[in-house]
Amino acid sequence: MKNTQKRKLTPDLKDEAYRRAARSANYAENIDFDDVPVVSRGDDSGAYVQAWFWVSNEDAGICTQCGAANAAEGFEGLCGNCADKTENEPPEATS
Ligand SMILES: [Zn+2]
Repeated sequence: MKNTQKRKLTPDLKDEAYRRAARSANYAENIDFDDVPVVSRGDDSGAYVQAWFWVSNEDAGICTQCGAANAAEGFEGLCGNCADKTENEPPEATS
């Protein structure tokens, strides 16, 4: 006899299914998850799964050397002051 009864997932198993799908989905490589991310189900068919999105200092306009907020004034992620210091430094000695 064929079992046609469909198994209904408990809320916990549903949350785990959303987490598993979120981890396996090919989202941006900058997204990371906690061990047990929070799942928020809405009225639509689906859920939000809590994730962390990595933003680099360079993308945020924060100087990668001193932490100043005006990195756009310099170059390569540096603020104007740090960029100027780099330009005035003598070339590194090679040993
Ligand atoms: Zn700086």
